[in-house]
Amino acid sequence: MTSSAHISSSQLPVVAIVVPCYKEQEALPMSLPRLLYVLDTMTARRIAAEGSFILCVDDGSPDSTWQAILKAHDEDSRVQGLALAHNAGHQYALLAGLMDVRERCDAAVSIDADLQDDPDAIIEMVNAFRAGSEIVYGVRRSRSTDTWFKRNSAHAFYRLQESMGLQSVYDHADYRLMSRRALEVLASFREQNLFLRGIIPLIGLNTATVYYDRNERVAGESKYPLKKMLAFSIDGITSFSAKPLRWIFLTGLGLLIADVAVALYVFCSLLRGDTMSGWSSIMLSVWFLGSLLLMAVGVVGEYIGKIFTEVKGRPRFIVREHT
Ligand code: UDP
Ligand code: MG
Repeated sequence: MTSSAHISSSQLPVVAIVVPCYKEQEALPMSLPRLLYVLDTMTARRIAAEGSFILCVDDGSPDSTWQAILKAHDEDSRVQGLALAHNAGHQYALLAGLMDVRERCDAAVSIDADLQDDPDAIIEMVNAFRAGSEIVYGVRRSRSTDTWFKRNSAHAFYRLQESMGLQSVYDHADYRLMSRRALEVLASFREQNLFLRGIIPLIGLNTATVYYDRNERVAGESKYPLKKMLAFSIDGITSFSAKPLRWIFLTGLGLLIADVAVALYVFCSLLRGDTMSGWSSIMLSVWFLGSLLLMAVGVVGEYIGKIFTEVKGRPRFIVREHT
């Protein structure tokens, strides 16, 4: 069973391009015509249906982003808008958009408003979708436009994630295509802390990868300064893994073993007589109590880890195929 499951071969897929926008009043007038051009190309080449559209999600921008969206909608009805009441953050704005289009399209492509990700890759993504992929990752060919720091910190983060058992796709941001079916599965993930890049690989349907070049922003400035990047990374780890809690327990256990060596050292010193009175008992209790406390915190952590996975209420299984 391949893509023909969701679109019959005679029909062209309706593609929705979902664009989260926060303070993008300068970028939108440049990026929307570019995205409309991609839609034109796909309909002309009979890759996507006439009814394909763009959904701009205004993530509570204080500037005139929403006015820019309305203006674009007046000029071309294929541009649609969805305004969030507050600044919910990139991941939530994206989710809001994807959930909004999921019943009106065959596939949704998410792309940033600044068009740092080459929009022509959308065409390749849709082709991969038509060839049977449910999720198509956009992966950067090179990170040459990034600073040395951003490039290396990103790669270190991927490695850290992997060490905690998270699947991650290197050099893939949130530029991807998801089929309607993949969107349905995504809808069944009920967690509040959203880290889409970590969830998508858990969907486990057929995937493909499309490579593209990443450019500079067309206008405006990045809304991801170091502080937000760091917060995003910490969220990414703590919303997927309870391993840091287990590490506390294991550290306590390790220290408890080390206590034997400390005890030997203390007794030797005591026998040699080169100790002050009270030193031995303080040494032993500091080490022993320290490791016990750490282990106790770790045990509590183990239970919190269980609660953590329970409250997420994630689907316990995802059906891939049915005869
Ligand atoms: N964005 C958003 N809400 C936010 C911050 C950013 O919807 O609170 C959008 C932003 O408009 C852009 C995308 O998320 O379309 C990525 O942000 P940005 O380009 O600033 O991040 P960078 O590419 O620098 O990592
Ligand atoms: Mg950007």
